[in-house]
Amino acid sequence: MAEYDYDLFVIGAGSGGTRAARVSASYGAKVAVAEEYRVGGTCVIRGCVPKKLLVYGSHFSEELEDGKNFGWTWENAKFDWTKLRDHVLKDVDRLNNAYTDTLKNHGVEIILERAELAGPHEIKLAGGKTVTAKYILIAVGAWPAVADFPGSGLMSTSNEMFHLEALPESIIIAGGGYIANEFAGIFNGLGSDVTVVNRSDIILRGYDESVRDRLIQISLAKGISYKFNCTFDRIEKRDDGALDVYMDGKKDPVRTDIVLAATGRRPKVDNLGLEKAGVATNDKNAIIVDDYSRTNVENIYAVGDVTNRVQLTPIAIREGQAFADTVFGDNPRTVDYDNIPSAVFSQPPIASVGLTESEARKQYGNIKIYSSDFRAMRNVFADRAERSLYKMIVEHPTEKILGLHMIGPDAPEILQAAAVAVKAGLTKQAFDDTVALHPSMSEELVLLK
Ligand code: NDP
Repeated sequence: MAEYDYDLFVIGAGSGGTRAARVSASYGAKVAVAEEYRVGGTCVIRGCVPKKLLVYGSHFSEELEDGKNFGWTWENAKFDWTKLRDHVLKDVDRLNNAYTDTLKNHGVEIILERAELAGPHEIKLAGGKTVTAKYILIAVGAWPAVADFPGSGLMSTSNEMFHLEALPESIIIAGGGYIANEFAGIFNGLGSDVTVVNRSDIILRGYDESVRDRLIQISLAKGISYKFNCTFDRIEKRDDGALDVYMDGKKDPVRTDIVLAATGRRPKVDNLGLEKAGVATNDKNAIIVDDYSRTNVENIYAVGDVTNRVQLTPIAIREGQAFADTVFGDNPRTVDYDNIPSAVFSQPPIASVGLTESEARKQYGNIKIYSSDFRAMRNVFADRAERSLYKMIVEHPTEKILGLHMIGPDAPEILQAAAVAVKAGLTKQAFDDTVALHPSMSEELVLLK
């Protein structure tokens, strides 16, 4: 008889857990994965995917407006929130099924129950059963962090945004990061009155200053309001169901339909039984792992947001893959965290890879900046004032590219390809040597001055 019930037990069927389970099974391991909610995890069920669909849905308002100069008229154009919401949720169901099928087709046992550690090799299922595994992988992700102040429980999180009964007339968004700016764009495009409230005067900390400034300029022009260096005192529910939000010590509240808490996500380790197995965490509740995603307990690993290395889906997937290759594929592998491209699906979107100008100055001292500040042809024709900005940071005098930052239509689609060049360590000259693809927005990348 086998010593353990499973070779590998994965807790959490999100991006990292699913990849690790599927690849480990393909190497011949007997694998089970426990999921307390739905297979697919945050990205598929309540994150990247449904968010991007809402961004598309929201952006149609601009497309309709811009269509006029292209000869189109739409009589009585109307937006129906429930139609968009339900169609998005249907697509989430489709992906949930696809993820489930993939796991099943690879022979992975799916246990739709909450699982907790009961020891280094033991896992307790919510149904009461305890199972054992030679290796355990923790891939439970992260959860919205909600500040604690009077009435903070009246705030919603991104989880609920995909299920709203109705489109809010007004929304206050707490935070100035990814989720705040993406939902600000979504609700503004759909016609809600949007106010972003952040504790500092910086949005999208970690992104290049120039593209952040450009997003604020464009967002203000679109009617999004910002309150900076502002704190919440309390929130009260009114008789009509709306919320009174008291901020910055002011006596009078601001009335709003929804307050969205978008103030970061914390590793979801509560009641996971980590102490029973002796798994160590850091001061941010993140599971501490080495380069191979191994915890301080020899047979227990962790990947994805629960380790709080880089909270991005493609990173969780890479960590899951590297884990499976290392432990079951006889091919020890680590993840390369240098030059990770990332994007904010604001309107317009931001995309970035490598160092920001201030990071590059600090690290390299001698740098040079090339940029293009332009209005996309389509925007000119549509009388849309919105300008795009592409910015390249190079080391001087080698001209090696240190960072590339873009804000403008389709910036993430364009930057993914350019990120290959940055990752490969190319110089500005390599871009100059490449003939422009005309007329396109991306040609600005090889014409930077
Ligand atoms: P972010 O870390 O992007 O931003 C958090 C924001 O909340 C910051 O503006 C920060 O302010 C503020 N904040 C942090 N803590 C507090 C607090 N205690 N009280 C008040 N304000 C606070 O977090 P998000 O919630 O927007 O997103 C979580 C993570 O999910 C992101 O880090 C990202 O990795 C991932 N994500 C990625 C997306 C993508 O790839 N497109 C999309 C959505 C999420 P300040 O900076 O001033 O300190």
